[in-house]
Amino acid sequence: MIRINENYLKLKASYLFADIARRVTAYTAAHPDQPVIRLGIGDVTEPLPPACVEALHAATDEMARRATFKGYGPEQGYAFLRDLVAQHDYAARGCQIEADEIFISDGSKCDCGNIQEIFATDLRLAIPDPVYPVYVDTNVMAGRTGPNVDGRYEGILYLDSTAANGYVPAVPAAPADLVYLCFPNNPTGAVATRAQLEAWVDYAKRNKAILLFDSAYEAYIRNPAIPHSIYEIEGAREVAIEFRSFSKTAGFTGTRCAYTVVPKTLMAYDAAGQAHPLHALWNRRHTTKFNGVSYPIQKAAAAVYSPAGQSQTKALTDFYLANAALIRAAMGKLGFPCVGGDNAPYIWINVGRDSWEFFDLLLEKAQVVCTPGAGFGKCGEGHVRISAFNSRENVQQALERIAAALR
Ligand code: PLP
Repeated sequence: MIRINENYLKLKASYLFADIARRVTAYTAAHPDQPVIRLGIGDVTEPLPPACVEALHAATDEMARRATFKGYGPEQGYAFLRDLVAQHDYAARGCQIEADEIFISDGSKCDCGNIQEIFATDLRLAIPDPVYPVYVDTNVMAGRTGPNVDGRYEGILYLDSTAANGYVPAVPAAPADLVYLCFPNNPTGAVATRAQLEAWVDYAKRNKAILLFDSAYEAYIRNPAIPHSIYEIEGAREVAIEFRSFSKTAGFTGTRCAYTVVPKTLMAYDAAGQAHPLHALWNRRHTTKFNGVSYPIQKAAAAVYSPAGQSQTKALTDFYLANAALIRAAMGKLGFPCVGGDNAPYIWINVGRDSWEFFDLLLEKAQVVCTPGAGFGKCGEGHVRISAFNSRENVQQALERIAAALR
């Protein structure tokens, strides 16, 4: 009798987006004349930057000619892209990252989800709450947790992000081996200061832990004092893996390109206490299970680093940030304490009541869809996330309706 991986049965069914869709569908069916504006989703709305589109077309033409056609490329990514990433995203910020420490992939979701495969199953996990659900669920699938009891998995050290700590958890007193961090944060939009990141690097060194640093939203940082990369912190090469994506930087959510940085100086240990470089393990995993991102897509990603690409992607993130500023100002004016939106495309709103109740209120009274915070973890209760990914017109209209509904 073939048996299943029973860890999957522990997964708390993620009803969040299905539940949202169900409520929105029911509402629109009952009120077909009242158009709904969706500010709940974490997907971009604006088209690809022209520099990327041009590169995509040119690379597609290369694929059409025998002389320039490409078959399988290097699994880790073409050197032209890895070199650009190393130069622009790291050397330019004073970080010492070599091109061959960068692994190009088709998305950060897969990388954040797959990275746990190279670690032992019985290690101690520390994961923020609220959180991007991939970090938790992939560890549940791998059997690193006990059952879900009252909305939390046994065996995870939850790092609470609350109004009391400004939604940036301090390092815990208890030790952990694998620590997930995400700044600028999804869902809260909070950013970590240099001092806060230094404390995490110090924690990792003291505990021989590894930090998994997700900086999918670094392109939204405008405060020059906030680090864009964990490698801006001294010593991070010995304790951190970093995930980056072109999804929110350049509108690649449907195009798919990202990368993961695994420094060669990063070590983890076998049962006998012998150190092993994680770079070699991830390289083995990546090249065994992945066959590379397509050439035209890597060319489109490389175009992000051209002078035109740089100004176009800056304009794109500026556009969403201007939406975010409008949302934060409007919600603040209505008396809700907010974080995020200044260095991130998300605004985390403390609504002071049940998050689904507030969701229903906005849907029914303003025909606006937000995301209830409870869907991101226990600490998300009492909050909603509003996303800046939409047209200016829709954002303005949504805010006018919210103000009218809550006045
Ligand atoms: N990490 C975070 C925190 C995200 O919010 C997202 C997407 O929403 C991702 C990773 C996934 O990005 P990608 O589109 O590269 O898979």
